[in-house]
Amino acid sequence: MTPELTVAEQAALTSGRNMWQTTPVESAGLPAINVTDGPHGVRLQANSRDALRGQPATCFPPAVATASTWDPGLLRRMGEALGEECRAMDVAVLLGPGINLKRSPLGGRNFEYFSEDPLLAGVLGAAWVNGLQSRNVGASLKHFAVNSQETDRMRVSADVDERTLRELYLSAFRRVVTQAAPWTVMCAYNKVNGIYASQYHWLLTEVLRDEWGYDGVLVSDWSAVSDRVAAVAAGLDLTMPGPDDAGDRDLEEALETGRLDPARLAQAAGRVAALVEKAAARAAGDYDQQAHHDLAREIAGRAIVLLKNDDGILPLAPGGTGTIAVIGEFARTPRYQGGGSSQITPTRLDDALTEITAATEATVLFAPGYLTGDSAAQESAARDGETEAESDRDLLAEAVALAAASDVALVFAGSELETEGADRDGIDLPAEHRALIEEVARVNRRTVVILSNGGVLATAPWGETVPVIVEGWLLGQAGGGAVADVLFGQVNPSGRLAETIPLRLQDHPSYLDFPGEHGHVRYGEGLYVGYRGFDEREQEVAYPFGFGLSYTTFGYGQATATATDRGIEVRVAVTNTGERDGREVVQLYVSVPGSAVRRARRELRAFASVPLTAGETADVVLTVDRDDLAYWDTGLSRWVVEGGAYHCAVGASSRDLRTTAVVEVRGDDARAPLTAESTLGEWLADPRGTRAIGQALAGPGGAGPGPMAAFLADPGMSLFLTNMPLRRLARFPGSPLTDETIAKLVAAAND
Ligand code: BGC
Repeated sequence: MTPELTVAEQAALTSGRNMWQTTPVESAGLPAINVTDGPHGVRLQANSRDALRGQPATCFPPAVATASTWDPGLLRRMGEALGEECRAMDVAVLLGPGINLKRSPLGGRNFEYFSEDPLLAGVLGAAWVNGLQSRNVGASLKHFAVNSQETDRMRVSADVDERTLRELYLSAFRRVVTQAAPWTVMCAYNKVNGIYASQYHWLLTEVLRDEWGYDGVLVSDWSAVSDRVAAVAAGLDLTMPGPDDAGDRDLEEALETGRLDPARLAQAAGRVAALVEKAAARAAGDYDQQAHHDLAREIAGRAIVLLKNDDGILPLAPGGTGTIAVIGEFARTPRYQGGGSSQITPTRLDDALTEITAATEATVLFAPGYLTGDSAAQESAARDGETEAESDRDLLAEAVALAAASDVALVFAGSELETEGADRDGIDLPAEHRALIEEVARVNRRTVVILSNGGVLATAPWGETVPVIVEGWLLGQAGGGAVADVLFGQVNPSGRLAETIPLRLQDHPSYLDFPGEHGHVRYGEGLYVGYRGFDEREQEVAYPFGFGLSYTTFGYGQATATATDRGIEVRVAVTNTGERDGREVVQLYVSVPGSAVRRARRELRAFASVPLTAGETADVVLTVDRDDLAYWDTGLSRWVVEGGAYHCAVGASSRDLRTTAVVEVRGDDARAPLTAESTLGEWLADPRGTRAIGQALAGPGGAGPGPMAAFLADPGMSLFLTNMPLRRLARFPGSPLTDETIAKLVAAAND
């Protein structure tokens, strides 16, 4: 039951009390509730001076890593664990997950987002939300919508056509909203097609509420609201942070002047009140730090993507003898998360150097190889009075000497910094890291590169010179152990790329239109985001979407596909054909050759992460909901499933498709009404039109050729006229059509 609230209370309740709390309304028995970031840990502010410093909590791997698991089951478990930590810290709503599409590899928050593909982002996001909310803690699905860059993030207008918006940028949101009902949805900072997301009635009310049936709380991103009245009128419920006394007064004034409907404010306040009441039902709890650290390690191990493993150099034998050179400061000072609002103070932090040393009987020796902002090497160089360049040179020489004298060289390299608030300016490794890799590979043929990065890094051209590349992303507080698990084969890698690694930034579909200028960013590649664009232009990439190696191999049987009322069901037998237990991520890509509309060459429509012991075969069933087959018909302004042959290709990546089944799908009745504005071609392409025109051709009473017959008899002439709307055809010299005959045709065709 929504309590009775005065207008002043309603206004106060719809803005925060402070940075992280809602406003309490004592008279109505509504306490303040705590909300906090999010999304890969709980960042409950530790002291009043530093809004970005949190109390210790488990730092799980950020989304860039969790997405590479392609495993909603794991994401669910992570959500559950986060829910337990929230309960222990009295947090009612955790601000995540971030599910914006990675439109460009330069996106500064790509490490917080899942994928360039909306199905993958949506399925994983829904699992995370369901896990969290199973513990009676609310999620905040963010950032709604089209928030795929940091440059000018508080003002820029993402200019995107409606079909692309619906099929790509809103699609993941729709999935999470309809499958997981997040307690809150957070609107984005940016504008969408010229209107602030926070003030966009179409987006917040018509799409999110009316079409998708969302009934939770719509909260602003922090300071996203520029006009409180416009935001509330558009459908926003809660403005954060607060207090916003001026905005509260604006609301009251707007009610008096009639600019705002009182029912809308009451509804917003009612929703916030309902959220507070729901949160109050949550029992306090506790959590097991060790168990959560172990879970963080498990997820991190599953997130690592083995990109290259020539000569089967990995896994290393755990009981091995000899010398292992561990090179690169990141092995000792891990890069394990990005900067900004998602930054967690970990309960503890494992580093790869210690974990590798513990995992092997071989001799492990370390050389830092390069300086980082906070590295121990930096300090000692400063102590010795060296310049940075001198010190880099010394570190490089020392590392190369160590590599030359070792049996295997493990080089830890990656990007130095990725943070909310700034996009990246390139996708190349820092020059010192690249030099280190190339020099080490020259002296040691068994060189393994382990990358730490939140945004995609180009592996060309240095990747050619090393036999092994392990993509380690940002792996959270237990990443060091997870890397050791993979290097020594305790974990057989099963991570798959959730985004394409291009050969060059210039190849990327977004390249010419990122990050925009003068307040606008044009989504010029339209539907062709990520692999959709690379595939359409048949462009070579370094590593395709969905790619990742294993220490075992998998074989695929012949896929079969059946159409059901609910969509498509594809079955395929997958066998672990190697000698190690492993896990295959079976991927289904659907295409509709000959479609009436432009479509990407192939689109991910289902996937399954399948554990298989050596030699084991599993029958894998992949289902595609009929909704996911639809395209957005801009003419009809609705979703349409096209009838025809759907090609279902199954395989191990978007460019390693092993078996295809074709299935006939019944289409929706999606005929547009025939009008005076429809062209002659459209009339003749539609059986209702051909019939009506046929009758008109037959002459009065079907007695013989009417006046239109001669007009259309000349094939050249009729072709020439194909593009003319009937109304204009009627004005064409010699045309037998009149407004009256058109009216009759329209009536006959749409009867
Ligand atoms: C970010 C959100 C975050 C919020 C609260 C904003 O700057 O965009 O993702 O949840 O701050 O910290």
